Formats: sequence, C-alpha cells, structure tokens
Amino acid sequence: MQRIPPTPDSAFPADFRIGGFQPFSLCDWPGRIAATLFTQGCALRCGYCHNPHLIARDGSVLDNVQVLRALHARRGLIDGVVFSGGEPCLQPGLAAAMETVGTFGFEVGLHSAGTHPRALRAVLPRVSWLGLDIKAPTGHLRAITGANCDRRVAESLAIAVASGVDLEVRTTWSPALFSAEELCDLVRALKAQGVTKFVLQRLREYSPRRDGKPHWLNAVSPPAALLEQMRGLFSDFELR
Ligand code: SF4
Repeated sequence: MQRIPPTPDSAFPADFRIGGFQPFSLCDWPGRIAATLFTQGCALRCGYCHNPHLIARDGSVLDNVQVLRALHARRGLIDGVVFSGGEPCLQPGLAAAMETVGTFGFEVGLHSAGTHPRALRAVLPRVSWLGLDIKAPTGHLRAITGANCDRRVAESLAIAVASGVDLEVRTTWSPALFSAEELCDLVRALKAQGVTKFVLQRLREYSPRRDGKPHWLNAVSPPAALLEQMRGLFSDFELR
C-alpha cells in the first residue's frame, strides 16, 4: 500500500517544549547531516553549561508548528533530527515528537545526560544514535552538576549499553573538574561496562579579562600516556 506523505500540519505534543532549533548541523550527530531541536528544561546545573538559557523548565519556547514546518521542508536535505537540550528525556512528549519526525522519513538521534533512565528506556527503540554524557566518575557528579544523580546516570548507561543502540559516551574534562587519575579510572570503568565509542571533550574555560570581557583559555589535554591508553581501550576514540 502506498504511504500517504505526511503534511506539515502534523503536530508535536502541546507539552513538548522547544527552546532552540538548528536547521542544519554537521557536528551534533557524527557522520550525519542533521537538524537539532534543543528542548527547554534541565535538572542539572553544570558550571560549564553553554546553553544556560535552556535550563529553566519555564523558559521561553519556540512555536512548535513553525519548527515542524521547517523540519518538513528539509525532507531529502538532511538525514535525521537530533533531540538535544536542556535534557530531552525531561519532556513527557518526547516519544511522540520522535514518532512525528520519523513519519517525515528522518532518523532520530538523542543527546542525554542520563538523568531520567526510565524515560530513556522508553524512547530508545525510536533512537538510531545516542550521545550520552557521563560527566564525571561516581562521587564527583554532584560537584559538577549540582545534583545527586550518580545512581540514575549509572542506570542510564547500563540501559543504553544493553539496548545495543549506536552509543557514543562523552566526558567533558579539565584538571579543574577532576584529576587525570580519576579520568583514567572512569574510562576503565566505561570500558568494563561495554562502552566502545568514547569522546573526551576538553573543557575550554574562560576567565574575565581586565576589561571585563570573557577570555577563552586553551583546553588542557590529559597526559599523553593516558590518551594512548584511551586509544587502546576503545574501538572508536576521539579527542575534542
Ligand atoms: S546537562 Fe547540559 S544543558 Fe543541562 S546544565 Fe549540564 S551542560 Fe547545561
């Protein structure tokens, strides 16, 4: 039976809150041309957050209909849609929103910090690629994110690995966050839990100049021996 093409009047759930929209991205889903939806709201308060305007759940949102129409117009031009944030798994309408973009023929990617394992488990069958942030070794998450989320993040990682989804685990690191030795323990634990793709994101910190404007400092790399170890541990390793 011939599939009836969806119209741009398909709807996102009314409670699906989009705080930002990037219609064309080459960096949010490795190897794919994607559009990125940034959902509004996050339970964490990472000190280095580059999207602080997306943290408040009641922050200003875009018109869902306009975003959906823009996505519809990109059929054939992009491979997929990445749900990013904020924390997409906070959105009650996430599964329905994923289903809607799926009807447009798009693959679905997801960025998550793993704070809502039950919601993650529920949407994973619709997800082709997951970028999961493991922000710190156990015991350090509260200092970095402001939340006691060690258990929930560990559960999300176990769910993601067991699901067989194409999984990229990312950790943002600088010696100011936790030590190179602790980073070493973390990557070994990730390997032991079945992670095969790992990205180390070097934190670019900034400090105010004397003139008051932010001044980006060079990112610090971990010791060469540790980098070498990481290359050996994972079949796919990237330093960003
Ligand atoms: S999880 Fe992401 S969006 Fe939420 S506070 Fe941390 S960096 Fe910002």
